[in-house]
Amino acid sequence: MKPLMMGNWKMNATHLEAIQMVQKLHYRLDSDDFDRVEVVVAPPFTSLRSIQTIIEADRMRIGLAAQNVHWSPAGAFTGEVSAAMLAKLNVSSVIVGHSERRAQFAEDDEVVNKKAKAVLASGMTAVVCVGETLDERESGRAEDVVVGQVRASLRGLSSDDIPHLVVAYEPVWAIGTGRSAGPDDAGGMATVIRQSCTSMWGAGAAQLRILYGGSVNPGNVAGIMAKRDVNGALVGGASLDPDTFASVVRYWV
Ligand code: PEP
Repeated sequence: MKPLMMGNWKMNATHLEAIQMVQKLHYRLDSDDFDRVEVVVAPPFTSLRSIQTIIEADRMRIGLAAQNVHWSPAGAFTGEVSAAMLAKLNVSSVIVGHSERRAQFAEDDEVVNKKAKAVLASGMTAVVCVGETLDERESGRAEDVVVGQVRASLRGLSSDDIPHLVVAYEPVWAIGTGRSAGPDDAGGMATVIRQSCTSMWGAGAAQLRILYGGSVNPGNVAGIMAKRDVNGALVGGASLDPDTFASVVRYWV
C-alpha cells in the first residue's frame, strides 16, 4: 500500500503564501519520492482554487485536500461549502471530524458520518479523524473511545468504500503539543482500528489506509511509519514549512 503523507495547514497562509508553500514543497521532492509516497496538502478554502491551478499548470504530483465540508448538497447554510463545490475544484480528499472541529465546533460522530457520506457521494476520499483525549487515555478508555468513534463515524459505509476512505488516528493530547504518541501506541491503536473495520467489513479492511497524526516531525516519523498498520501521517505544524514537510515525506532517508 502506498503511504499517504497529508499536510493539514489549518487556518494558516493567505493564498499567496500557500502558492509559495506548494511550489517549494514540489521543488524539494523528486519523482522517486512521488513514486514512493502519495503527497497531499490541505490548505484553507481560500487557497484551494489557486493551488489547484498551480498543481495542474505545473503537473505537480501533489494532491489537494480540503479541511472541512458541509453534508448538504446546497442551501441556506451561510459560511459553509458543499462537497460538490470541492469536487469541482479537483479536490481529491476531505478531512472530516478533526478533533479541533469536534471540540470547537461541536461536531459529533453523527455529523462526521454525514460529512463522510457526502464526501464519498461526490467521488472524493473521506479522511475521517478519530482520537481520544488525555483524560480518556489516562482512565484506560482510549481503545473504547476510538473504536466507538470509528463505528459511529463510519456507520452505513461498506467494504466498497474502503478505497475512498482513510482513517486518521489523532490522539487529542498529541495534536499541536509537541508530544507525539510513541510508535507502539500509534501502531497499537492503528491495529485496533483495522480490527474494528475488519469486524465491520471483512478482510477487505486490510486495504484501508490508516494514518497517525499528532506532533509528527522528521525525527519521529520513521519509527511511526515502521508500524505494520500505519500507512501514513496527517501532519499539522510540521507541514507548514516545506523543508520540514519534505523531510517528513521522505521518512526513510
Ligand atoms: C493535525 O492537526 O492534524 C495535527 C496532527 O497537528 P500537529 O501535527 O501540529 O500535531
